[in-house]
Amino acid sequence: MFPEVDEIGPDKPVEKCGVVSIFSRYEHAAPYIYYCLRALQHRGQEAAGIASYSREREDIVFEKGLGLVGEVFSPDRLEKLPGNSGIGHVYYSIALSVPENAQPYVFHTASGTIALAHNGILTNAEELKVRLKKKGHGYYSGSEEESVSYLISDSMLAGKSMISAIKSALSELDGSYAFSFMVNDHVFAARDPMGIRPLCLGELPDGLGYVAASESVALDAIGAKHIRDVRPGELVELTEDGIKSYQLFERGEIAHCFLEYVYFARADSVIDGREAYRSRMRIGWRLAKESPVSADVIVPVPDSGRAHATGFSRGSGIKLEEGLMKNRYVARTFIMPDQHLRDISVGEKINPVKSIVRGKRVVLVDDSIIRGTTMKRIVKKLRDAGAKEVHVRIGSPPVIAPCYLGIDMTERGQFVAHGRTVEEIRKIIGADSLAYISVEGLMEALKWEENQMCLGCVTGEYPIKIKGEKTRLQRTLQDY
Ligand code: SF4
Repeated sequence: MFPEVDEIGPDKPVEKCGVVSIFSRYEHAAPYIYYCLRALQHRGQEAAGIASYSREREDIVFEKGLGLVGEVFSPDRLEKLPGNSGIGHVYYSIALSVPENAQPYVFHTASGTIALAHNGILTNAEELKVRLKKKGHGYYSGSEEESVSYLISDSMLAGKSMISAIKSALSELDGSYAFSFMVNDHVFAARDPMGIRPLCLGELPDGLGYVAASESVALDAIGAKHIRDVRPGELVELTEDGIKSYQLFERGEIAHCFLEYVYFARADSVIDGREAYRSRMRIGWRLAKESPVSADVIVPVPDSGRAHATGFSRGSGIKLEEGLMKNRYVARTFIMPDQHLRDISVGEKINPVKSIVRGKRVVLVDDSIIRGTTMKRIVKKLRDAGAKEVHVRIGSPPVIAPCYLGIDMTERGQFVAHGRTVEEIRKIIGADSLAYISVEGLMEALKWEENQMCLGCVTGEYPIKIKGEKTRLQRTLQDY
């Protein structure tokens, strides 16, 4: 069997996870969580899981497995998850191979059962593990989430209230997190002090209860009203009496991940008050002003470049046409052993509409370029279909550095832009011209200030201390 594409890494940045917390007054939480997870499926396709609190068993029960949400959960499996409160998770991980590594993780600690679902990465995970092992904790999953459960449990054992114990545990963490978690029958959500990963809050229809989720599309999926975003450094508990809010950490510098707006989040999501679709449109508009080109037609790379291309079309006055079609039924593929077969495999996924591109000067618009391999093949396909010129315009600055904060981009060597000029990249992908949006243009389009965003992967300067990397602020999350 040929190795799978994921073994060399996908040609797009990949979100690692999506999370959901629900408290429902009258109904079982699991079916709601199921629909929320389906709406968050773009954030992780490798595994899915749900944990809920069973009053009958007086404990947290869970079901999880490898695959898409709809593959992991059947009506029978959802039936095994009684209870009005619960959490859910979708997972992307190259390393994930056994269902036990799917989330939520459920840990039976001396202070009760703790279930955790995490979007983000703890940059001090190893340090924490070493310290907690020295205290005598044996690790079952070996995960960073297990450390969080021990930190909460130890503080509760030491006599702290549940909320104080959670605060004390979270204050030990560095990196990024949006957590959905349960401590026995209490259901929570928490966002790191810089708000790096998104997390929003909603009310179930007819006042049935409350929901927290990675993106507002999860709320829309179950008819919930989007109330607001969870604030950086805030813990919320979803209860019978409403949403209880605890601002655990002072509100200081924020650093939202810009790639959520540019690519990861679904276009119809609203994150921290900005809709992803309109943000992408503004980026395209700005890109057209920054890097104009004489052309006959704007063609988006489906589906990732569509909103950017619409903005580019409006900004340039050049008509947009769907000159590339995507086969939606080819999800994953294998690496073919020779170049010819690899080209066929891209053609299987994306194919030009010849009447639209033949004899034309085409502007091809996408959100980002990571390895450049797919872009190179698309440019070639357009030329083979008769395009006279192919000009590539990209809605993010060149990705040159790894992400340590929750996105699966780990090796500098995987980025075509690392150590190369734009002209060198243009030659590699075979385009007539290539331009990326500038950081200033991006900020103007996103309507955030540069010091309110994480731009680590495009500037090489991170919002928190990361060993061996440049840092915008000389502080760790623990300094909050
Ligand atoms: S490094 Fe890039 S992908 Fe990672 S959180 Fe920052 S902006 Fe997002």
